Amino acid sequence: MRFGRRKDTASRPWKLSAKLLIASSVVTVLGFTAICTSVMLDMRRSEEELARQTLENLASGIDTDISRNVELYDLSLRSVAANMVAPEISQVSRPLRQLILFDHAATAKHFGAIQVFDATGKLIADASTLDPIPEDRSGEEYFRVHRDQPNVGLFISRPMLHHGAYSIVLSRRISGEDGRFLGVVAGSIRFSYFHDLFSRLRLDPDDVITVFRHDGTVIMRTPFDLDIIGKNFADNPGVKRVLSEPSGSYSGVRTPTHAPRLYVWRDGTKPLVVVVGKPWDNIHRLWRIEATRIGTIMAMLAVFVLGVTLFLAREIGRRAEAEEKLEELATTDALTGLRNRRKFDASIENEWRRAARQKRPLALLMIDADHFKSFNDTYGHQAGDEVLIGIAICISDSVHRAGDCAARYGGEEFAVLLPGSTPEQALVVAETIRLKVEQWCGEKAITTVSVGVASIIPDAKSEWTNLIQAADEALYAAKANGRNRTVLATGPKLSLAA
Ligand code: GH3
Ligand code: MG
Ligand code: MG
Repeated sequence: MRFGRRKDTASRPWKLSAKLLIASSVVTVLGFTAICTSVMLDMRRSEEELARQTLENLASGIDTDISRNVELYDLSLRSVAANMVAPEISQVSRPLRQLILFDHAATAKHFGAIQVFDATGKLIADASTLDPIPEDRSGEEYFRVHRDQPNVGLFISRPMLHHGAYSIVLSRRISGEDGRFLGVVAGSIRFSYFHDLFSRLRLDPDDVITVFRHDGTVIMRTPFDLDIIGKNFADNPGVKRVLSEPSGSYSGVRTPTHAPRLYVWRDGTKPLVVVVGKPWDNIHRLWRIEATRIGTIMAMLAVFVLGVTLFLAREIGRRAEAEEKLEELATTDALTGLRNRRKFDASIENEWRRAARQKRPLALLMIDADHFKSFNDTYGHQAGDEVLIGIAICISDSVHRAGDCAARYGGEEFAVLLPGSTPEQALVVAETIRLKVEQWCGEKAITTVSVGVASIIPDAKSEWTNLIQAADEALYAAKANGRNRTVLATGPKLSLAA
């Protein structure tokens, strides 16, 4: 036997609102995280763009300085080369020739003296002295290049020790009117020029500036590194781009042990190309600090919001469960656990209207314990209560459908509402209850019940009290007909069914 009312678990609106609260919080947190991530990525892009611009300006500034000096020096070389082929030059005195040749020759702190070599590589004129110490440069690369290739123009040498100082040698061919090789005019720019130039810049320790010759040879580099200077990097994919594109940027590592850098260059078509590099770590340093700060705050906020949401959702659940329990207590009969009269009145009202709308029958069983007064008198009130509990168990054990409502109507009377049940179906339930009580009571010789059954299809005008009245009358008939029986009300005429 089963005792107590069935718990209604079909609708739990609080569960829905708790889920809605959690879902909206999660969506809000995700939304804010997405916005934050997007802003952070924008910030990162801006930092990168700013770094690219700064490096571009730096490369451009260095490039301008170097180009101007090379051009200036080249002008002097051109002038010397042109003057050397003037027919009068061999007829004038040496001091005059010195004056004619080197009058306009550029002389600056970091420039070496311009020298002229004849077709065999012998020194024949030196801007710094009238009596130069004999020199033979026929073995030098720049001499051989000009001798063998008439159209080289300005030739910039690899970095080399020149007159005791690391320098690059700039040279031009001296050609006769018939194109014959007459010699080479050469001058040098010392490394001190680059050192001086780079020392004027504000650079981070990890920043790199490299000056490439147009064949990929490193002419100069800061931080200064003799292992790299003079090496050819033409095979490096990044350097290849530098030498083939007018300007641009690329991300690369020189060796796997080095940090990846952003490299930027301007005007890769010139004889010397300046490439400026900055480690990505340094470019992103400020952004990373900011991203970590904002990310931490966001994560803490997300944890806080989700924590509060879970707490609130749990509170909603607890509160709703407490309310549900309270409502259950308020609608339950304390002795039998069946629904009480208040709940029954509300149910019959609802079911009556529903049945009227749907034009379906609504059945009611009125159950009354037989000779209960004398049972009480014989065995006492306490024993009577136990019997009432037993009858309630018999009733709730016989009523199974979700909409059915078994209630204690008052005293030793019970009422069972069976929505949708025809008189025949209601009669079956009533008999089940009566027999269950009879069987149970029979074992202990206690009591029986009489049942009045009515089933009506309500119309718009009729009242639910009609149903109660009909079931009451049927109960009365059952009592009158000897008790422990079920009577079905059939309109004004009551029929005895069992
Ligand atoms: P009948 O077969 O005609 O129904 O006889 P009856 O004695 O059952 O009818 P009556 O209405 O005269 O008596 C009802 C009795 O039910 C009176 C009362 O002592 C008893 N009763 C009502 N409520 C309770 C209750 O909560 N507990 C107990 N133990 N008895 C109750
Ligand atoms: Mg009674
Ligand atoms: Mg009674």
